[in-house]
Amino acid sequence: MRRLLAAAFLLAVHAGVPAASPVPEPRAYRLAEHVYVLLGPIQHANASNQGFMINATAIIGDKGVILIDSGGSHEVGEHLARAVRRITPKPVTHVVNTHHHGDHHLGNTAFPNAVFISSEACRKLVSDTGHEWVGLMEHDIGRKLPGTKARAADVTYANGSRTEVTLQGVRIIFRVPKGSHTAGDLLVYLPDEKVLIAGDVLVNGIVPTFQDGFIRNWVQTLDEMQAMDAKHFVPGHGDVMTAAEVANLRDAISRFYAAVKDGYRKGRTESEIRATLDLSAWNKLERAYVIGRNINRAYLEAEAESFDEK
Ligand SMILES: [Zn+2]
Repeated sequence: MRRLLAAAFLLAVHAGVPAASPVPEPRAYRLAEHVYVLLGPIQHANASNQGFMINATAIIGDKGVILIDSGGSHEVGEHLARAVRRITPKPVTHVVNTHHHGDHHLGNTAFPNAVFISSEACRKLVSDTGHEWVGLMEHDIGRKLPGTKARAADVTYANGSRTEVTLQGVRIIFRVPKGSHTAGDLLVYLPDEKVLIAGDVLVNGIVPTFQDGFIRNWVQTLDEMQAMDAKHFVPGHGDVMTAAEVANLRDAISRFYAAVKDGYRKGRTESEIRATLDLSAWNKLERAYVIGRNINRAYLEAEAESFDEK
């Protein structure tokens, strides 16, 4: 009987769902007077980071907090809520989503009393594809994420718009550039603090992902950013950037596109083009596996550009 019980106990342990590893703590620091960055891991979603793989930014206003991006699951959202509570007792009253990729907004539901803000295109993409992002996240983390569901924005800004508002006493400019990393990017600029929070239009230490992007617009948006008088540039992933690092990213993307376009015009295939590219810088970065897809996206855009010219 004892042996049987022991066997049953062992079986129960093995059949049980393994405990998920804890969500890593953000590296949090004060970037400006009212602005704290909560830097996340930069690896793609996996069982170690539990879908926390973005930077969030907390802007502490008069009576509440404006949080930019909320993480890749309900649980990550709660984790970020706790990180904000360690900084201030003020409640999160506004959550801004920089784009529709699930790692940036699936934590929204952890802030049930907040007003949600995004671009108009992002709201539509979150509504249409949110469930797919939950599935992708579950696949990458390797377990179900009960309680995680998409929550689209309440307040949106139109493509091409630039709107200055005051939220919680903080002056904020919401700028919706021409689709760059995605069709629905939203840039958040704090003119008094000279902080630009850019979502994945800026990335640091990882290869930028063109898959849902528009590469020529992206280069233009990076030019626009450099003309903005910002001092601190908060990317969607990786450490806070300087203007010089933004310029480097701009040049890397621009050179990559020019090289793929040149190959397209010479009638080369994508794999022939790949062999001509200098990928030494990007090969060293996190998420180098997106380079092939980036060539594909650049090739399609070069093809579309050549049709436009005809
Ligand atoms: Zn993204």
